[in-house]
Amino acid sequence: MSETIEPPFKKAKMAETIDDFIQQIMLSKKNLQAVVSDEFIKPGAFTKVYVGQVKNVKELSKIITILNEKIPLKELQHLKRARKKEVLLCPVQSLNSITQESIQEYVEEKVYELKDSFEYFKIMGLPSLPPKLKKQHTEYSRVWSCNFHPNEYLEKLCGNDFFLEPELMKHRCYMAIAFEVARYYLSERNSNLQLSDILLRDINATVVVDPSIDSIVAISFDNRENHPVQHSAMLAIDNVAKTQNGGAWNTSTCSEDSPLPGIDNNLVLYLKNKFANVKFGARNYVTKEVLDENRMNASDSPYLCTGYYIYMIREPCIMCSMGLVHARANRVFFCLYNNRQGALISKTKLHCVPSLNHHFEVFTEFL
Ligand SMILES: [Zn+2]
Repeated sequence: MSETIEPPFKKAKMAETIDDFIQQIMLSKKNLQAVVSDEFIKPGAFTKVYVGQVKNVKELSKIITILNEKIPLKELQHLKRARKKEVLLCPVQSLNSITQESIQEYVEEKVYELKDSFEYFKIMGLPSLPPKLKKQHTEYSRVWSCNFHPNEYLEKLCGNDFFLEPELMKHRCYMAIAFEVARYYLSERNSNLQLSDILLRDINATVVVDPSIDSIVAISFDNRENHPVQHSAMLAIDNVAKTQNGGAWNTSTCSEDSPLPGIDNNLVLYLKNKFANVKFGARNYVTKEVLDENRMNASDSPYLCTGYYIYMIREPCIMCSMGLVHARANRVFFCLYNNRQGALISKTKLHCVPSLNHHFEVFTEFL
């Protein structure tokens, strides 16, 4: 399973050296963009619905009461039943298509007492799902009145100014560190490393941060050349597990003095030298027995990647993304798209699948 060899963004071409590129990632004031479910960005689906014009407007509220009882709107609850003299009757698909039933016949069958209440009937295309964002509500309301419950967090997440500048700078710094990790490992193999070796090669690097203490708890770089599932994110998850008395992969060749399990201290020193203010190391892990004994809360000890932010130079594949779901990551940030295998925007949006039991937020547009 390989992870990508796609051309970088046009803007990335402006940088010619690795240093320029990393500076660009770090210093840009451009806000990041959340990768949200298509239902928030793609035009909404419309469904055909029969609408009847009421003859006598004074009977409108009585008609609505009867209709709500006899022909409830069910999945179209988000639509108001009436608009001026028009009332919603039912989706077109409710009629019997085999007998080619007319809407008049349908009304007579379902609500006989209203058989003479309508001036005429027409078919309208109306939004099949409730509006989630204000702009959707505005768009839908041009067609028909909708019930709408605004969600301020969602509005902000879908907007262009989600992160305040100090926070944005942190995310950009951790992403720059992920690129430094890639540079460090690749330059061990190639003394004449070029920016294109990082941007175009099929590699990934991951930095895991505990935002509650603003500290890097794990780092990893691809080992797919030697092990088919040791993608960077999978190794990062394993390195996080090592901070919690776990971990499956043997990385004992790494120096014991490193604050990051599975990572050579030379890399940590290299990063400390470049990013003087960045902290390394996880919060103390407390076993369940000790938590129970001391009547501590589960949140007093780290658990998998709960609450952690994951920074990856490249969009992760489906295996890694699913691994991050299982690991309970809180947010995933990536810089380069993985057009062939990316599971967070390119091929699918795994984090938007409603049936998964955990969802993380995803941010990109570092360039
Ligand atoms: Zn992967």
